[in-house]
Amino acid sequence: MPKKVIVIGAGASGMLAAGKAAEQGAEVLLLEKKKKPGNKLLISGKGRCNLTNNSEVSEFIQHFNREGRFLHQPFSQFFAPQLMAFFQSLGIELITERGGRVFPASGKASDVVDALLRWSQSNGVVLHSSYPVNRILIKDGRINGVRCNRRSIHGDAVILATGGATYPATGSTGDGYSMAEDLGHSIKPLRPALVPLLVDDPLVQSLAGLDLRNTGFRVYVDGKRKKADFGEVSFTTTGIGGPVTLTHSLFIVENLRAAKNVIISLDLKPALDEHKLDNRLQRDFVKRHDESISSVLRGLLPQQLIAPALHFCSLNGQKSAGQISTAERKRIREWLKNFRLSISGHRPLSEAIITAGGINVKEINPNTMESKIVEGLYIVGELLDIHGDTGGYNLQAAFSTGWLAGIHAAGTKDQLGR
Ligand SMILES: Cc1cc2nc3c(=O)[nH]c(=O)nc-3n(C[C@H](O)[C@H](O)[C@H](O)COP(=O)(O)OP(=O)(O)OC[C@H]3O[C@@H](n4cnc5c(N)ncnc54)[C@H](O)[C@@H]3O)c2cc1C
Repeated sequence: MPKKVIVIGAGASGMLAAGKAAEQGAEVLLLEKKKKPGNKLLISGKGRCNLTNNSEVSEFIQHFNREGRFLHQPFSQFFAPQLMAFFQSLGIELITERGGRVFPASGKASDVVDALLRWSQSNGVVLHSSYPVNRILIKDGRINGVRCNRRSIHGDAVILATGGATYPATGSTGDGYSMAEDLGHSIKPLRPALVPLLVDDPLVQSLAGLDLRNTGFRVYVDGKRKKADFGEVSFTTTGIGGPVTLTHSLFIVENLRAAKNVIISLDLKPALDEHKLDNRLQRDFVKRHDESISSVLRGLLPQQLIAPALHFCSLNGQKSAGQISTAERKRIREWLKNFRLSISGHRPLSEAIITAGGINVKEINPNTMESKIVEGLYIVGELLDIHGDTGGYNLQAAFSTGWLAGIHAAGTKDQLGR
């Protein structure tokens, strides 16, 4: 008799888990709460789906929180090269971009979702959409099935793949945390990771839409420099986002929660040290001495930054460059190297790219993804207390853990030699 496997959630990890379990010969039911599967995958990578990263495993794991070490086992069985070969075997051509980010060459996340669905269904997976699971059923200490809309469905194994608690419109509303908690699992507090930050200053908010590439990024906590990085910062109507901001956002969220004062200092001219920048300003001001300082600054800054530059440096924009005093030039130089943003908060968990916290990985067997608390229960994907940077790390973790759970949920103990 084939094993009956129920997968809860048709996202990245659930679709992989279901297809793999069916490939192993199990009878697989994939239950999805929303009308359509893979909603979060569809919006991933701005609709392009950055499905993995081609860095080496040791470097890859450094892009996760401490608990990311748990991934050594899943990655030793199914990692980026295997994932890429898998998608290529499904007819998805891939391209690798800056920073090792891997995307479908078509630039369409929908191609990834369609391919996963076709593959899982051709392996025999039965998908029920608009099917929210409310509870996992246990009998004699082991899995017995699930409860869904007052109906019980029997299963020999259940793979819990309901995702994190961000972007709830995609269906990932955090249901799996309470389902696992009801069965005795412990949940590390949920926090937003990769989340935009708030800057309560109308002048900064007026910069919405501006993207600054190649910007120096330093984080000061209670006046002490704690982080120094470099990258792209985007201004929003409520503050700042962009890759380098998101990377450090959880650190900042945790300091804000501890009532610390957080300042971000942007270096708008990281390629020039103070001395070289001063020479450049002097040269420009002499050469263009009859022009207004506003016009001369246009050679150094995007248009949107001129008004804040004049405001923060207390300058009249009509003043000619030739009339700028040494003290005023010093203020301009200092502001260009140290544009300070006082961080007043962060966007909510629902707007984060990923959920930090989640199911304690000490309670999961990393060789199988089976719960150490309930026999026959497997937990995968973003539900786990593992979160990574942007760059394809989170989807690879979801795919690898799903793959492993699919194999082990389908196999009998004899087949798997346990
Ligand atoms: C805007 C955005 C962009 C992102 N871009 C990237 C990227 O480019 N690269 C990357 O690596 N990561 C990216 N991520 C993160 C990545 O998408 C997630 O980490 C990943 O999708 C998690 O996979 P998962 O299978 O655990 O959960 P999900 O993909 O969230 O899937 C969970 C599924 O479970 C279903 N479900 C929930 N509750 C129930 C229930 N009670 N019953 C039945 N079904 C249920 C949901 O409807 C959903 O379909 C992005 C995230 C966001 C929000």
